[in-house]
Amino acid sequence: MASFTLHGIPVSRGIAIGRAQMLAPAALDVKHYLIAEEHVEAEVVRLQTALATVHRELQTLWNELPKDAPTELGAFIDVHALILSDPMISEAPLDIIRSRHYNAEWALVTQIEELSAQFDEIEDPYLRERKVDIQQVAERVLKVLLGSEPLPMPVEPDDDEFQAQMVVVAHDISPADMLKFRDRSFIGFVTDVGGQNSHTAIVARSLDIPAAVGVSQASNLIEQDDWVIIDGDAGVVIVSPSALVLQQYRDRQLAAQRARKKLSKLKKTPAVTRDGTPITLLANIELPDDCGPALEAGANGVGLFRSEFLFMGRASDMPSEDEQFEQYRRAVVAMKGRPVTIRTLDIGADKPLDTTEHTALNPALGLRAIRYCLSEPQIFLTQLRAILRASAFGKLRILIPMLAHAHEIDQSLAMIELAKAELREANIKHDANVDVGAMIEIPAAALALPMFVRKMKFLSIGTNDLIQYTLAIDRVDYEVAHLYNPLHPAVLQLISMTIAAGHKAGIDVAVCGEMAGDVKLTRLLLGMGLRDFSMHPAQLLSVKQEILNSDMARIVPQTRKILRSMEPDVIADAVLSLQTM
Ligand code: PEP
Ligand code: MG
Repeated sequence: MASFTLHGIPVSRGIAIGRAQMLAPAALDVKHYLIAEEHVEAEVVRLQTALATVHRELQTLWNELPKDAPTELGAFIDVHALILSDPMISEAPLDIIRSRHYNAEWALVTQIEELSAQFDEIEDPYLRERKVDIQQVAERVLKVLLGSEPLPMPVEPDDDEFQAQMVVVAHDISPADMLKFRDRSFIGFVTDVGGQNSHTAIVARSLDIPAAVGVSQASNLIEQDDWVIIDGDAGVVIVSPSALVLQQYRDRQLAAQRARKKLSKLKKTPAVTRDGTPITLLANIELPDDCGPALEAGANGVGLFRSEFLFMGRASDMPSEDEQFEQYRRAVVAMKGRPVTIRTLDIGADKPLDTTEHTALNPALGLRAIRYCLSEPQIFLTQLRAILRASAFGKLRILIPMLAHAHEIDQSLAMIELAKAELREANIKHDANVDVGAMIEIPAAALALPMFVRKMKFLSIGTNDLIQYTLAIDRVDYEVAHLYNPLHPAVLQLISMTIAAGHKAGIDVAVCGEMAGDVKLTRLLLGMGLRDFSMHPAQLLSVKQEILNSDMARIVPQTRKILRSMEPDVIADAVLSLQTM
């Protein structure tokens, strides 16, 4: 097959070389893992058993039909039984298990997706609608599979050549679905849509897996089992590469591995610039399990725990106070006395809660984050109580997202006081003096800093949203991704003003957006006076290396020059030259 190259947006570093696994949207709703060769026949039997069970269920339904039941009901059951017996359902998924090693659920939904696509092409509307029957039959089988023991176990990573080579290709992956890949062994991701700082991209970065998004048409042009190289640094996807190209990328992979090994030696080295300025390096996490990699990278604490990931991807319920408390406590305990900054629920925009039914036209401008929490006081209060209870187990800070208005600050603080009062009343231990900080991620907040520094104990700049809202660029939309520019003079002014105002007021200011983990911007942020950086653990040691080689005496005058300029080219060149100082 001829080789071809696709271009998209780089979101997560590194090179991945593997075979394409096309993931249809429905496949994301079921478990998917590969079956080891020796267990394939047992998995085939598992699916056959589920199919037979559904057959029996339909038979029972038919037998138990009341005498006066409408005739359509019997016909309806007949149709389902016929569908179930059709080789497209009773045989084809078994072939998929045997040829691709998919688990039964994944094989079934893969086949159903293919059938559904064929039905969509049918002109006769009546026949086209029969797709629904096929999906209903599949749902019955999936339900039975769900109740059956998932025999055999998924293959351990690296156990099987198959497993080690899977690259996911999908039209889109939601942040919650991306998080599900945490336990799987996919080595790379390619999606048709998405932006560099979408939450899907952020999760891919946190999984430290090479990924490219906004690779328009990738899921149409790439075929199942094609060999694919993802260059996560350049956002390039090479399909069916030649042997020569493959070798070049394997060499680059090896070089990157060596560089990472070298970097790991910096784990215990304090982050101090050449002239002795100490810098705090914090980790961004999605779940308490991320504390392990954070400590492994030598993080001084957690600067951003995106608590909404505990709420996402659940069918209809919310995590209870106890469940949340347990997760926050785990993070605090895992960090062994280092501070853990828990951001309150930042739901909405590209992180929808499954239970919310808002269909706002502009969700990024809608009922998101603190706006949502203040409109759902019970949900907010439950979370605040859970966070406060965890504060009895170590150093914890509360961070409020998306604040813009004075009354939002006041109401948030009042809710925290209310949660404390409830805990006091119930004699439940908590830190009554817990620090509360504000995310500065809306331009209005950056332009009204006195409102914040008076009442907040620290600030954290969310550059991902600050750029989105300053430039009016949807961070998720790849069609305008080229306009999403962290170096726009307006963005730089807002960041620099926030750092200066915080320091003048004597409070800590961090950057926890993706800019903090971009080594190309480390010196610029240092030059603006930033001393607290919060990023994914995977980026932390590269940023530390940059800090160790930085000299403030050279950086500060150059940064001043950058901040005085309104010329994009001058700014870009000056930032480039900062890196060589
Ligand atoms: C940000 O906006 O920069 C940020 C850190 O928050 P999130 O990416 O979760 O919106
Ligand atoms: Mg944000």
